[in-house]
Amino acid sequence: MSRIAHETMRHEFADAAWQDHHAVTRVDQLREWMGADADGNLIRDVERGLARAPMALRITPYLLNLIDWSNFLEDPIRKQFIPVGSELLPSHPLLKMDSLHERKSSPVDGLVHRYKDKVLLLATDRCPVYCRFCTRSYSVGLDTQSVLKKKVSPFQSRWDTILAYLRVTPVIADVVVSGGDCFRLKPSRLLAIGMGLLSIPSIRRIRFATKGLAVLPMKITSDHKWTDALVNISDAGRDQGVEISFHTHFNHPREITDYTIAAAELLFKRGIRMRNQSVLMAGVNDDPEVMKQLVKKLSDLHIQPYYVYTCDLVDGIEHMRCSVRLACQIEKAVRGITAGYNTPLFVVDTPGGGGKRDVHSFEHYNTQTGLAVYRALSVRPDQLFTYPDPLQSLSPDAQAAWVDPWRAKGMLREAVRAARVKLMGLE
Ligand SMILES: *Cc1c(COP(=O)(O)O)cnc(C)c1O
Ligand code: SF4
Repeated sequence: MSRIAHETMRHEFADAAWQDHHAVTRVDQLREWMGADADGNLIRDVERGLARAPMALRITPYLLNLIDWSNFLEDPIRKQFIPVGSELLPSHPLLKMDSLHERKSSPVDGLVHRYKDKVLLLATDRCPVYCRFCTRSYSVGLDTQSVLKKKVSPFQSRWDTILAYLRVTPVIADVVVSGGDCFRLKPSRLLAIGMGLLSIPSIRRIRFATKGLAVLPMKITSDHKWTDALVNISDAGRDQGVEISFHTHFNHPREITDYTIAAAELLFKRGIRMRNQSVLMAGVNDDPEVMKQLVKKLSDLHIQPYYVYTCDLVDGIEHMRCSVRLACQIEKAVRGITAGYNTPLFVVDTPGGGGKRDVHSFEHYNTQTGLAVYRALSVRPDQLFTYPDPLQSLSPDAQAAWVDPWRAKGMLREAVRAARVKLMGLE
């Protein structure tokens, strides 16, 4: 390639609009990246994966470029965004769509109010890329062969209702703007949301949660209008004593590149507070060394590692889930390697809507049946919440028990009973 062509390409590659425009959304577009797949086995594997997946395909050239295509099946970045049929496992018998019961905790369309003083605002149903493990696979992204999405209706028509609810519910001090992903919002929309929320005196903290920095970091350095909108909100917030923060979503140290460094430096210089939330996934970051590297790299970028979530129960990602035991082990390995405030809390977002719990804080955990039972005193004090380890982490005997509905019910009942007995002893 001539030098000029190469320079042009580099210039284009660093442009978020170009990345968006060239995002891959169809299997056949992957062919040119695959190289040695002469007999088409890999492509067919991806097709089979997508046919079962609840999430549509969308991946930026930037991310495609980070995949090690010679090790396609094992690559930690590939695993997050491109499904293959050969790795899929049957879902856990306890899986239900929308396992966190978000729609049941929605007082108005597009707002999840589960905890007392904080809410989740679903600003859009689009993302710069689609992750296989998305909790909101019931609504985010385009319809797939297996899921017709519950549409998040156009934001403008819901916005006034959301603002009105927040205004008359002053107990809410904390708003998480999520979705979907605010990277897909126009700068004017982003600004309107930020300033709208800032006009409500009871709101003390606003976070913008985005996968963007991890999958499209050049947005920050090339879409000046968007970055200015974010900085304007942050500055306006600071002026009136409201904390604005930016929550990123990095899962593997290889997702941190020169583009990421440039973007994070820019945001840090412009006074944006940043924190990171990761998802613990088998074959991606279920290794203490990988997690340690990630934590160190993020800390150096002044992105505070905040949470590591165990995978939610989502269809098509059973092979990526990790046991509670493994999550606890990795947490123990990570704690102490750096500043405590840069050490993430490992959490389980409990199925059934109990909210996030420290993974170590189960009331009862049976490693044979793989059931961990949690209490959520501040959310639903009278209820117990159960998180199941993935079947592949259990003995063959326990696995067989789980596929028998009668024995499965028995195991569930036994775990809840054991937790209650323990709690009665304490009280
Ligand atoms: C995660 C979450 C929040 C924010 O919780 P933090 O623990 O403060 O990060 C708020 N609402 C819902 C429904 C959530 O799932
Ligand atoms: S960016 Fe977030 S909301 Fe969007 S698909 Fe990924 S996990 Fe889901």
